[in-house]
Amino acid sequence: MSEECDHAVHRADSARLSLRGDCESCFGLCCVVPAFSASTDFAIDKDAGKACPHLQSDFRCAIHTHLREQGFPGCAAYDCFGAGQKISQLTFGGEDWRRAPGRAPQMFELFLVMRQLHELLWYLAEALTLQPARQLHGALGLAFEETERLAENSPESLGELDVATHRREVSALLLRVSELVRAKSRHRKDCTGLTSAVPTSATVSFSPHPS
Ligand code: SF4
Repeated sequence: MSEECDHAVHRADSARLSLRGDCESCFGLCCVVPAFSASTDFAIDKDAGKACPHLQSDFRCAIHTHLREQGFPGCAAYDCFGAGQKISQLTFGGEDWRRAPGRAPQMFELFLVMRQLHELLWYLAEALTLQPARQLHGALGLAFEETERLAENSPESLGELDVATHRREVSALLLRVSELVRAKSRHRKDCTGLTSAVPTSATVSFSPHPS
């Protein structure tokens, strides 16, 4: 592994901690930005851009310890991959949408962009831990650093970002990772003659929520 690649692997590894929601540092963006439809996940209908009635003035959830009992298991399962605190504290420098309502539409729009970037960062960091994909670690490291750089852009630059194109490019790389891991798993299965499934830890599983 080259020195640059090694650096990217370590960088991604240390960044993983910040790729989880930190509600203490966020202005309740996931409780405002998305629309909810009353379902088994959410007890109420809520329009996009409107604060959930359970969101308090300090941006904490009034029913945080009873989400499932109150009919909001979707909130308990959701993770923004750290996009909420990044938008709140870095992109908008700690300025919240209640004190600066004029910036709210831009903040809400960019939260959705940032969540996609952070989700990609999480997948890339995960892929960089997979040994069967080590031949792609250089490309994965570059993609991680580029995505991280995009996520640190100003609100104006983030607003101009073609996140769908970036997502497509990263997804193509992740697909190659998945193929390598699956090929390794098949090879293991052939060598051992096992008919049962290979251990699930040997398969790529890009779950929507880090566990
Ligand atoms: S129930 Fe709580 S966590 Fe869920 S959206 Fe409302 S305020 Fe946020």
